[in-house]
Amino acid sequence: MTFEPVVESAIRDLVLANRILSRENVIDDFGHVSVRHPTDPGRYFLSRSRSPEIVTRDDIMEFALDGEPIAQNGRSMYAERAIHGAIYLARSDVQAVAHHHTRSVLPFTVADIPLKPVFHMGAVIGPHVPVWDSQPEFGDTNMLIDALPKGHSLARVLGNGRVVLLRGHGSVCAARCLRSVCFVSIYLKENADLLLKTLPFGSPKYLTPGEIEKTADMLLSPMPLARAWDYWLARAGFSGL
Ligand code: MN
Repeated sequence: MTFEPVVESAIRDLVLANRILSRENVIDDFGHVSVRHPTDPGRYFLSRSRSPEIVTRDDIMEFALDGEPIAQNGRSMYAERAIHGAIYLARSDVQAVAHHHTRSVLPFTVADIPLKPVFHMGAVIGPHVPVWDSQPEFGDTNMLIDALPKGHSLARVLGNGRVVLLRGHGSVCAARCLRSVCFVSIYLKENADLLLKTLPFGSPKYLTPGEIEKTADMLLSPMPLARAWDYWLARAGFSGL
């Protein structure tokens, strides 16, 4: 099935975002990234259930915000797609969502140590990164966000931010475009790595709220995003496209 050019372009960039987040070790065998339909805000695109490193154009499926496929055609689907639909429903400003289990982020989901920006590029995660815990509302579960009530609960904790951590599970990033969601996801990991290296030496000097706001506004603007995207494309083997 082919779409109008603006939609085909979004799908192509979604395939590239899958490959980039895999190459940058943000997403491994599990985890996923989606983009809102550029001309129908009540829908989004997401791969069928497949590891992002091998996602191709033909794997991309279209979903309604309740997670129902527009044309399943026998394909298996990610169990946690409720993450994507619930955030698109709650946040009209969000055009791309990524979910991952990046190992260096996991300590901050289980220990009482806030994940805050400690370096310039880390500013994109925002001044406050909340942790969502399924336990108070849902008790003992398989820990997957596999139904809309869990997705809605997660979206409430995300609030107006770009990052929410999942206790004992991973993280979710939400942003204005695929480039931004890749930027936030990659530097969430880098910031966590740096914080883990710094903590043994004592209490870090974090960026101030004003530095975070000004730096994030600058980094998530077109020029830095284009420069980073081209770099990631090259590293993922797609330079010169
Ligand atoms: Mn997960």
